[in-house]
Formats: sequence, structure tokens, C-alpha cells
Amino acid sequence: MSKMALAIHGGAGTILRSAMTPELEAEYRRGLEAALKAGWDVLQNRGSALDSVEAAVVSLEDFPLFNAGRGSVFTHEGTNEMDACIMDGRTPDAGAVAFVRSIKNPVRLARLVMETTDHILLAGEGAKQFADENGLATEPDEYFFTEHRWLQYQDALASGRIQLDHAAPKPMGTVGAAACDANGHLAAATSTGGMTNKKFGRVGDTPIIGSGTYADDLCAVSCTGHGEYFMLGVTAFDVSARMKYKGLGLADAAAQSIEHLTALKGEGGLIAVDREGNVAMPFNCEGMYRGWITSEDDAHIDIYAPD
Ligand code: ASP
Repeated sequence: MSKMALAIHGGAGTILRSAMTPELEAEYRRGLEAALKAGWDVLQNRGSALDSVEAAVVSLEDFPLFNAGRGSVFTHEGTNEMDACIMDGRTPDAGAVAFVRSIKNPVRLARLVMETTDHILLAGEGAKQFADENGLATEPDEYFFTEHRWLQYQDALASGRIQLDHAAPKPMGTVGAAACDANGHLAAATSTGGMTNKKFGRVGDTPIIGSGTYADDLCAVSCTGHGEYFMLGVTAFDVSARMKYKGLGLADAAAQSIEHLTALKGEGGLIAVDREGNVAMPFNCEGMYRGWITSEDDAHIDIYAPD
């Protein structure tokens, strides 16, 4: 039996300590703890890494403070457009959706794409039609309305700024999970509302296999940060490539991938798990909402970089 591990994130960026109240921090921690528990329960019951990352991400999508599912940021038009991806490192296989609206849990739709179609990425109206045909849960616009996101949007509109969700001192988002199950199989999932005030059907790194999400038989990776740079760095795959072609361990490979991102002038972080149940969570910004647990370590929740 392999050492089991689960890592989750709720977004990376400039999380100013000055803008964080004890109440808000407790709320974020509550959201992370619930997601960690949802994913860990699956692994402890001998469930698969794939089921575990889906359960963790669904929990994060349902939690209004994170920028995914319910708490998704607003586009320029005042709507919510979401991207999500799930990848099974065992097969390997992947499913993703981009530019979808009103889907309660985009990660579930991504999994449905993976398991029931010959495709990997469905977008927009077609993805919605596919969701409807499969009876996937949808919600009215009001469900996705959260006051902090609306204020963030108004602020970005007023200043004419297209704002990544990491821009301080706003709450942050994008959620993800990476897991290793008792059989040593790996999986990763990521889900996001993208960036506030985004236009023209902008899609970020999250649903792009190898950029924001990746899993194979070496590692499982979920990224968060300024998506365009993760696409340029093909960051999630980059971790696996460094392990495979340079013979690096997970921690060194993940750290080098973030160094590469920094060289590209990108900001953000990633969570990664390998088949030995090791966990790495490097980032190059002030903080990343994150949690991890393994069969040898208790659950940990953290927000800021270590002092
Ligand atoms: N990577 C996401 C995107 O660019 C945003 C984030 O991680 O907060 O869409």
C-alpha cells in the first residue's frame, strides 16, 4: 500500500496580511479544512485519487470565498464564466471545460467530458448543451452572485483594469487538488472563474492540459496564478518533465518550475504530489491558500509564505 497524500489550494497571489481580519482568515481556513476532509475521506475509504480530487474541488467550488463555482469573479459584462479540468494520471486521461456559465460544479462537467466523450476540452454553448443533455446541475445567475466579487468587479470596471483575482487586497481564488491514492495512482483537478473584468471569452491556464493542470504516473499538479504565464511556461507539465528528464525529486522539480515561471515574469504557485506521497507547494508571491495531509502527517492549512 502506497503512502496516501492530498494537497489542495484556494488560489495564490498577493495576500496582504493587513487586509486579512481574524474572522476572514478563520472563514478561509474553514473552507480549506472542509475540502481537505472531503478529499481525504475518499482516500481513507480506499477511494481513487481521481474521486478524491473531484470531491475536494467540488467542496471548494461550493464555498463562496474562493474564485471557482459559486464564488467565481465577474467578467466585463457582469457574468460568470468558468474553466475547469480534471486529469487521471493512471490512464492517463483528462477532461476539461472552458467558458461555461451556470454550471454548479464545472469540475464534475470536466470529468463527464473525460469519461463519456472522445474529446478532452469542450467550451461555451456546446459544453452547456452537453451538460444539459447529461442532466448536470445548473444554477441561476443569483447563485453566483457574491457581494465581495461584485465590489471587486465594480472597482475593476471603474479603473478600467482587467484584474487577476490575486490583485491585492482583494480576496483570491482558483481552486485545485492533487492526490496520490493507496495504489500509488495520481490525479489532479483545477477550477476557476478566471479574472475579474475579463473580456472576449478569455480562457486561462486552468483547463489547458499541462499548463494549469497535469497528472501522469510521476506526479499530479494543479496551478494557480496569472494564467497567461503558466500557459507560456507549460508549468504543470514542466514539473513532470523535470522529474522524468532530469531525474529530479518532486520538491526540486516543482521549485524549478516556479523559478522558470518567475523568469517569465509570472506570478503564482502550484501544488504537486508524487507517487511516493510526497507533497510540494512552491509559490513566488506573498501567499497561497493551501492545505495538505498524508497518511504519515496530520492535516495542515496555511496561507502565507513561511517567515
Ligand atoms: N490561473 C487562473 C487564470 O488565469 C487564475 C487564478 O489562478 O487565480 O484563469
